Amino acid sequence: SDSHFPVPLSPSQFDYSLHYPQLFPVPSDDDNPKRIQFADIGCGFGGLLVALSTLFPDKLMIGMEIRDKVTEYVKERISALRTTNPGQYQNISVVRTNSMKYIPNYFEKGHLTKMFFLFPDPHFKEKNHRRRVISPHLLDEYAYTLAVGGIIYTITDVEELGEWMKGCLENHPMFEALTEEELENDPVVKLLISATEEGQKVARNGGQTFQAVYRRIAPSL
Ligand code: SAM
Repeated sequence: SDSHFPVPLSPSQFDYSLHYPQLFPVPSDDDNPKRIQFADIGCGFGGLLVALSTLFPDKLMIGMEIRDKVTEYVKERISALRTTNPGQYQNISVVRTNSMKYIPNYFEKGHLTKMFFLFPDPHFKEKNHRRRVISPHLLDEYAYTLAVGGIIYTITDVEELGEWMKGCLENHPMFEALTEEELENDPVVKLLISATEEGQKVARNGGQTFQAVYRRIAPSL
């Protein structure tokens, strides 16, 4: 349960030096302006983080994952990559946490520029829809956490969930869909399937996917 993992009381208490030691040699260095910009929510085995790390070497990223063993696996994966590729993979890390409860403990208002919700658990039954990681209520929180212009990426192989996520985003006043052209020009969109363990599984089985990619917009006055 939640009591088994530590949670920072506020974003300023998150110790960057533990997660990005080469970039933050001094613990709690308030003068270092670098902050996490990308969050992969329910990151699973971390394939997306690994692919994004070298694509955006100057951005800090974190995976958030609730399963203890899976989190440990990602930690070891990153540590091995750092050892075999000196100077690389210093910008990615992972925390074990319940993202549905603790996102505000990690990020300030307007903190993130990308959030990923890739192949989240579907929670089919109507009474379990409140457990979905995309919901009208949680989108308020994600809108708060994302900078204006920041992008939220969602994808699933479950059509009903895909429609649900798209519907929630479409109906939210703080998000607008990327155009076809913007999707085409964003190198990250291709990684949603090719870099994630779940996406690779769906591709191997020739399955369909349903994506919704939206931008955080400024409130209209
Ligand atoms: N995104 C990865 C991918 O595409 O390969 C993993 C997808 S997997 C089907 C969904 C992941 O979300 C699981 O690893 C699960 O443990 C994690 N998860 C579910 N609820 C969560 C929560 N409340 N907070 C953090 N992670 C969660």
